[in-house]
Amino acid sequence: MSFQVEGKVAVVTGGSSGIGLAAVEILVAEGAKVAWCGRDEERLNASKHYILEKFPHANIFTKACNVLKKEEVQQFAKDVKLNLGNVDMLINNAGQGRVSNFENTQDEDWMKEIELKYFSVLHPVRAFLDDLKQSANASITNVNSLLALQPEPHMIATSSARAALLNLTHSLAHEFTQYGVRVNSILLGMVESAQWKRRYETRSDLNLSWEEWTGNIAKNRGIPMQRLGRPEEPARALVFLASPLASYTTGAALDVSGGFNKHL
Ligand code: NDP
Repeated sequence: MSFQVEGKVAVVTGGSSGIGLAAVEILVAEGAKVAWCGRDEERLNASKHYILEKFPHANIFTKACNVLKKEEVQQFAKDVKLNLGNVDMLINNAGQGRVSNFENTQDEDWMKEIELKYFSVLHPVRAFLDDLKQSANASITNVNSLLALQPEPHMIATSSARAALLNLTHSLAHEFTQYGVRVNSILLGMVESAQWKRRYETRSDLNLSWEEWTGNIAKNRGIPMQRLGRPEEPARALVFLASPLASYTTGAALDVSGGFNKHL
């Protein structure tokens, strides 16, 4: 069964690497027209070349854009519409986490984390909402973390901001049913990313392979599936929720954590 997104227009924020790029790749492979952004022009161009090498006829649009800058996001939305047409699916993926406990999190760090988790979603939602309202299959899908439900003391600010984003996603889902716009999120555990690759390069035991090293992390952290997620795994969940296949699902939070969830 296909995701039924052929010919539809999707936007992925933070599409230049990791989970975002994996979502872009699935959407393009499924025949969607896809726009994505990131802040770093070089990374963005590399991701564009990667996609065009695999899919030379892909209908895509990329632009450097910081999702925390409202004007840039509004301009990005205008450019997407001009280049690809009216948007059907918005995937809010751009962001990162912050490792710090209460003692070493300053007020400015709290503000930054709250700004990132709220406005990386609010700015794109504002910029694309009018277009989404015109789509017959409109969806907003937010990348969130299991930290929203299971806070970790070593990621105190990220955990509480993630909880706020989960709450916000739920409110948007209910408010936007009147426009026919579904709003969902995925809750991630630990997924292989550039950050993990960098840590692997500086591992103490150079004899450990990537699989052994990440497997040990997963076991030590108590992830039942005993491995980290691969970017394409959350990406598939994102594309499913964004697609018409999830037409009766809104306000949902889909767990993609390898069983790391401890709540019912
Ligand atoms: P990556 O670092 O590989 O990808 C992040 C993407 O977001 C990049 O394309 C980056 O490009 C972009 N980005 C970051 N900040 C901004 C910004 N302000 N404006 C526009 N683009 C931005 O990480 P992952 O793929 O692992 O993470 C994707 C999402 O999943 C993030 O929101 C992350 O917080 C979340 N997540 C990841 C987990 C994991 O274990 N990997 C766990 C829980 C949540 P650039 O830097 O050039 O802007």
